[in-house]
Amino acid sequence: METASKKLGVALVGLGTYSEGQLGPALKETKYCWLAGIVSGVEKKKEKWKKKYDIPAKNIYSYEDFDSIKTNDDIDIIYVVLPNSLHAEYVIRAARAGKHVICEKPMAITVEECDRMILACKEAGVMFSIGYRLHFDPFNLEMMRLANEKVFGAVKKISASHGLSDAEGWRLNKKLAGGGPLMDVGIYCVNAGRYITNMEPIAIQAFKGPKNDRKKFETIEESLNWKMEYKNGIIAECSCSYSKYGNHLRVEAENGWFEIAPSFSYSGLKGKTSEGKMDIKPTNQQAAQMDDFALAIIGNRSTPVPGEMGRQDIKILQVIYQSMETGKRIEV
Ligand code: NAD
Repeated sequence: METASKKLGVALVGLGTYSEGQLGPALKETKYCWLAGIVSGVEKKKEKWKKKYDIPAKNIYSYEDFDSIKTNDDIDIIYVVLPNSLHAEYVIRAARAGKHVICEKPMAITVEECDRMILACKEAGVMFSIGYRLHFDPFNLEMMRLANEKVFGAVKKISASHGLSDAEGWRLNKKLAGGGPLMDVGIYCVNAGRYITNMEPIAIQAFKGPKNDRKKFETIEESLNWKMEYKNGIIAECSCSYSKYGNHLRVEAENGWFEIAPSFSYSGLKGKTSEGKMDIKPTNQQAAQMDDFALAIIGNRSTPVPGEMGRQDIKILQVIYQSMETGKRIEV
């Protein structure tokens, strides 16, 4: 078991909803890392965070002076929590500053950006992970176990949906988001397809949903359904939306089924199998995720959620979009 002589310092880049509501509070619960620094463009926010988390003034940066973080020994890990199209730039700058990096999902908006991010971390000799918190969530881990150990026999079919009843701001702007609900929430279904099957899809067909609000969804899809085919005849039927709530993951296997709903939330997850209720104690997903990354650095081992996984998801998302645009089934 890895142990730490000191907690690693994390700097959050971007103090929006996710940092404020989840990552900041989670960093009060982590055992192997702490909130050592912040990077933001808004003075008021910096002041608020400085007071709330007792952050030393020398660990507070703007986007302009961010690169000077290189010489700050309090900061070991930089966590990029910005709109999707800014991930590549800030991950590369963080790596060049010699810091380990966590990047929020979706990793970037193109595969080419993902390649540059992975290369920059490799060249700098720093570790790189994606904020896939559900790989540390006990309900999703139980779904992985039931599938991988074939507790109900071989997996036959997956159904997954993740939808929000509304979205706003940069999420509706293709330039900043890279796409619509698929990039933001549909990605969870793609990632679940992998952790349930341990395989990559071999073919994909996607169907664009209707646009009920043409102005709001001018540059992005409002909703999307897609099917992923895997080896051995396994299929995953998925959907995502920015106008209809959805949050479930269900697996049908040879001799039974297992499901969680909500499946992709931060808390309140519930699970059932064809044999009864899942009796599982919840955990703080973000604290578990960041502690695991800190322990991976301390123990010099790999992370279970590396940049390569983020890249693979972006590759699949691009195929889903290609199928959505052409109406064709595409072999991956
Ligand atoms: P948000 O809009 O609440 O925050 C974004 C932050 O980026 C804001 O503080 C904003 O000031 C800053 N910013 C800097 N440059 C900007 C620009 N050019 N345009 C707009 N904002 C700019 O967004 P969020 O919900 O915190 O999402 C941030 C990232 O975190 C996204 O990549 C999102 O996908 C991811 N996220 C992940 C989870 C998860 O469960 N893992 C949950 C929510 C968000």
